Formats: sequence, structure tokens, C-alpha cells
Amino acid sequence: MGAQQQVADAFAALYGTAPEGIWSAPGRVNLIGEHTDYNDGFVMPFALPHTAVAAASRRTDGIVRLHSADVEGGVAELRPEDLVPGTDRAWTAYPAGVVWALREAGHPVTGADIHLASTVPVGAGLSSSAALEVVVALALNDLYGLGLQRWQLARLCQRAENVYVGAPTGIMDQTASACCEEGHALFLDTRDLSQRQIPFDLAAEGMRLLVVDTRVKHSHSEGEYGKRRAGCEQGAALLGVDALRDVPYAELDAALARIDDEEVRRLVRHVVTEDERVERVVSLLKSGDTRAIGPVLVEGHASLRDDFRISCPELDLAVDSALAAGALGARMTGGGFGGSAIVLAEAAEVETITKAVEEAFAAASFTAPRVFEAVPAAGARRLG
Ligand code: ADP
Ligand code: MG
Repeated sequence: MGAQQQVADAFAALYGTAPEGIWSAPGRVNLIGEHTDYNDGFVMPFALPHTAVAAASRRTDGIVRLHSADVEGGVAELRPEDLVPGTDRAWTAYPAGVVWALREAGHPVTGADIHLASTVPVGAGLSSSAALEVVVALALNDLYGLGLQRWQLARLCQRAENVYVGAPTGIMDQTASACCEEGHALFLDTRDLSQRQIPFDLAAEGMRLLVVDTRVKHSHSEGEYGKRRAGCEQGAALLGVDALRDVPYAELDAALARIDDEEVRRLVRHVVTEDERVERVVSLLKSGDTRAIGPVLVEGHASLRDDFRISCPELDLAVDSALAAGALGARMTGGGFGGSAIVLAEAAEVETITKAVEEAFAAASFTAPRVFEAVPAAGARRLG
């Protein structure tokens, strides 16, 4: 039985009728462009085949009912007019936050029955939260005929996560889930949300991209994210620009010379060089020089490890052991302090590299990682 039928059946069992529709939205990995999205910079994610699926119907009585197949507990019931940001600590804050953000923006969402099921690993830096938000936003957009565009849904989902859930995140995750296309990476300018779909078909060129989920999430990650973000804002203020995106790569040395604080200087250097790396990857992919992106990924990892300082022993080991076993490139991806790394490899080397990473983790007495292949998949869509 397909995921779609399963979700429809579960909906019918919960709510007593068939759903009006079924939607899906993917998790994502970021190929390059880390911690640039809150600096108005460039990112380049692609969608995973792992998705959150929602079955949903409208309600006219002012009630929203929420259920997740992946969480213990029954159906949560709430009234849209009673939603208050920052008050819900449970998983329901993500879908409820979307309802709140839509209503706050003036969209007449009067109620809904929603059942969710997701295959996106939770807390692995692969954006299970954005998948959940975007699938709910797309379902409500369709059900209520709101006519919102993908980028607008992404913005509202970001607002749901920032304000209603209370998690400070940039715009990348929601935009990736809402806008990615199969077989492509998404080159996104987070300042104006202009985007370009970049063909990214590694299999056709005899390569693979592996995701190494380290299965760890270090507890200080959220506080550290806030500190990095504040440091970047401080850097921009010191340099007299709106955002670090406005510091041209060619003027980086001059800019750094104007900053006394060593920590701020390192943050600025990461963001400015990372934007340049995204542009370099785009032009390499455009010219068909795909293998040459490997060293750029490795540079990106070094910058995140040494300048931005958000790697951890597990991520470093994933990257180093993959490279030692012959990977073309590797880097941590996502927020840092755990989560996942990506590895670019020749197809013929995948088994050797996977084994080497697993053995290195075992030798270090780390939790066994989960290694899987990521093929650029479709963004959010209606399934039925
Ligand atoms: P990430 O987005 O990297 O996976 P987050 O901490 O941002 O990690 O989001 C994870 C949270 O999203 C979970 O703790 C849970 O509240 C919610 N979530 C994700 N997937 C589901 C699901 N299938 N059902 C219910 N809640 C989910
Ligand atoms: Mg998240």
C-alpha cells in the first residue's frame, strides 16, 4: 500500500470521512551555502525523497483538528482564534503556527481536519519541521483557494516557525521544501527570494551524493545558533551594511581589517567566502564541471569548522573518513553541532566510502551513523 493510501485510510479512521485531498512536502539537504540565509546571502538546497504527507479537509465550525502518525497521543483540537504565539511546546505548534500565520496575514482559514505522516528523519538537520509546515500550508492554500504562490507560503511557514514556534530560522528550509524541483538544486537568493533551478543529475555522470546522519544533536545547538546570528548582525553593523551579503568577496580583506573582534571577524569571513562558494558551485555545474565542486564542499566544511565553529567530532569524522576513503568532496550540512554531513562520491566508490565511515564511527565509539543516498526529488505538491 502506498503512503498516499495509508494516509487517506488513517484520516478516514480518525475523522470518519475521506479527506478532501492529500499533499506532500519534502525534507531537504543543503548542497552549499550554510548560515548565509539570515545574512541575505545565497543557498543551494535540493529536496529529499523523504516527505511529510498530509490528508486534510476543511471545517466550517472554527475548529482545527491535528493528528500525526509519528507521535504518541490522540487528536489535538484547537480553535484558530485562540492561538497565541509561543504557548505551544508540542509538535502541534508547527501546523498550528501555519494556521496562525495564514490568519494573521488575513487569509480566511476557518478550520480543518488534518492527519500527517512523515518519512523525514526528525532532528537530523534535514528539515522535518519545514516539511511539516509546508505540507500544511499547501493543503490549506488549496482547500481554501487562497491563491498564494510557493514563495509566499514559504515566508508564512518561516513566520510560523520564528514567531509561533519560537525557533529562529532563516528562509532556506521552507523555500526548499516549497519550491524545489526533481533533478535540480535550487539556487536561491535569500534577499529577494529570486531563484534558479540548476540541473543536478549526479547519476547521469556516474556520481552519487550520500547523506551521513550522525544521529547526534548536541544540546547547546540552539543557543549557539543565536550567538552566530547575533555576531553576524554585529559584523554587518560594524561594516555599515544592511547584511553581510553586501560585503563583496573582492573587498573581504579590507573589510576584515576594519573589525577588531576576532570572533566577529571569523564569522564575517565564513559568510562572505560561503556566498562566493555558492556562486562558484553554480558556475561549475553550469559548465558541466561537476566533479570540481568536491573541493569547494571541502573548503566549505573547513570554513564552518574553523571560522564559524559549528562542527563537532562526529561531523568532522564523517567528512574526514569519507575523504580518506576517496570521496570527491564532503562537508557538514545544516545548522551544525550534529545532524548530517553530505558526501560526493563516484558511484563505484559508494560502498567503500560507506563502510569506511561506519568503521571510523565504530572505532571512535560513536553511535552508528545512518548513511543513505540522496537523489534530488520534487518539492511540495498535491498527490490526490
Ligand atoms: P529538523 O527540522 O532538523 O528535523 P527541528 O527541531 O527543526 O528538526 O524540528 C523537529 C520537530 O518537528 C519535532 O520535534 C516535532 O515537533 C516536529 N515534527 C517533525 N516531523 C514530525 C511528524 N512527523 N509528526 C509530528 N511532529 C513532527
Ligand atoms: Mg527544522
